[in-house]
Amino acid sequence: LLEIKKLSKCFNDLEVLRDVNISITKGEVVVIIGPSGSGKSTLLRCVNLLEHPTGGEISYMGQDITHLGKKVTDYRKHVGMVFQRFNLFPLKTALENIMYAPVKLSKVPHSEAKEQAMELLRKVGLESKANVYPHALSGGQQQRVAIARALAMQPDILLFDEPTSALDPELVGDVLEVMKQLAKEGMTMMVVTHEMGFAKDVADRVIFMDGGYIVEEDTPIEIFTRPKNERTKSFLSRVL
Ligand code: ATP
Ligand code: MG
Repeated sequence: LLEIKKLSKCFNDLEVLRDVNISITKGEVVVIIGPSGSGKSTLLRCVNLLEHPTGGEISYMGQDITHLGKKVTDYRKHVGMVFQRFNLFPLKTALENIMYAPVKLSKVPHSEAKEQAMELLRKVGLESKANVYPHALSGGQQQRVAIARALAMQPDILLFDEPTSALDPELVGDVLEVMKQLAKEGMTMMVVTHEMGFAKDVADRVIFMDGGYIVEEDTPIEIFTRPKNERTKSFLSRVL
């Protein structure tokens, strides 16, 4: 589905990503871990072209997307993103937040978008909050609305950048549960997280990044029980 080859990204003199190669097949869940500043967010931002890669190639369903020009908007419809800060539209209700993109970008009829949005709210366990504004939702509820909003565009792949790290500990579980359910349903996902339990239970593959490089990449069992690289070992000993 997604092929990242020799990806590099520099901000002026600063090399943030170097020679990153990742291949993701449909239905795979890839968890990315690594210390602060290792380039995890930049990698996700390159994948949905919020940042333009300095070098290398990203292809999506066999097509190079690094030089799309005006077709970027089309491509982004296939790629959903959920951020650390939920950034819902504050003046729209939960339901309106979810309906916005389908109606505006994909010209889905209002009634159809509404029905679909209600369905998604059910999916994330928030049916009863349809007409509530973001400020009246807990962080965990806002994040679940943000996930529903990303799903409303029926993306082929979902990118998560530390979706639970801004949440109070007791709210983390509900959000992870929704993500787990999506994984079970076969959604392709790239997830940057510090939730090692989630990585162990849900990831097909774990990628450890440091200094802009992929240092190690393996199944969760291998990474967590038999890390090969010294830097992986020392990172895990600090976070586990
Ligand atoms: P964290 O775990 O703290 O979120 P990260 O792995 O997501 O870290 P990135 O946000 O990708 O790291 O940042 C990698 C490096 O790139 C950092 O040194 C950061 O300061 C730098 N960087 C990120 N975005 C920009 C930008 N727009 N301009 C200049 N430097 C940037
Ligand atoms: Mg980050």
